[in-house]
Amino acid sequence: GTFESLGLSNPVLRAIKRQGYRLPTPIQRRTLPLILQGSDIIGMARTGSGKTAAFVIPMVEKWVILVLALVLVSLLTGTWHQATRPLCLARRLQSHSPKAGARAVLLSPTRELALQTHKAVRDLARYTDLRTAVLVGGDALEAQFAELANNPDVLVATPGRLLHHLAEVEGLGLRSVEYCVVDEADRMFEMGFAEQVREILGKMTDRRQTLLFSATLPSSLAEFASAGLTAPQLVRL
Ligand code: AMP
Repeated sequence: GTFESLGLSNPVLRAIKRQGYRLPTPIQRRTLPLILQGSDIIGMARTGSGKTAAFVIPMVEKWVILVLALVLVSLLTGTWHQATRPLCLARRLQSHSPKAGARAVLLSPTRELALQTHKAVRDLARYTDLRTAVLVGGDALEAQFAELANNPDVLVATPGRLLHHLAEVEGLGLRSVEYCVVDEADRMFEMGFAEQVREILGKMTDRRQTLLFSATLPSSLAEFASAGLTAPQLVRL
């Protein structure tokens, strides 16, 4: 198993190489094919296993594929000549309305983990035009409002702050979300965020792909997963 054998696109493979990752870690080898094909998964993995890249790499790959599909549409519909830069055109096609909405939400239990996850997204999406926002407690709301006004494609957030923004920012919803990750779910539950996470998932449509990562799988979490995920594959190392 190499990254190349997964059939990843060039911008993603280049970013992986730039990070210095030579081979997928065991959790990546097991989860990447499942996530790329669209399955919901419960990934039992600890920090240090490479779990962040396991959910960030397929997210960026799906973004690249979407942009390519939109470029193809522009060629077929004859709007290609209007493009000075293909990615700008793809962006314009994607954003039929100025409020196209986020396509992915990555939930972390803590501010520190959210910032680390955001760094991983920036690194692995460095050769794409993916736009991100970090919504965590402890940062000024104004700066986050400005990030949201920029129509981010990906929201990296802690549950409380995301709900705060959803209540405050007019027009901000989660119905456009196609990819949702609940990271360190056991910690999330220990910290009392179960109800908030449930509320956030409830604002998304059922056609989203949902991924849950956790070091342990207590029965409360298994119950939560069976309600919030669709036919999840359990990946246990
Ligand atoms: P995580 O478990 O997500 O906290 O990742 C632990 C560390 O492993 C991070 O510093 C990652 O940059 C690094 N990492 C992730 N995937 C790989 C890989 N395939 N090869 C080498 N290092 C990796």
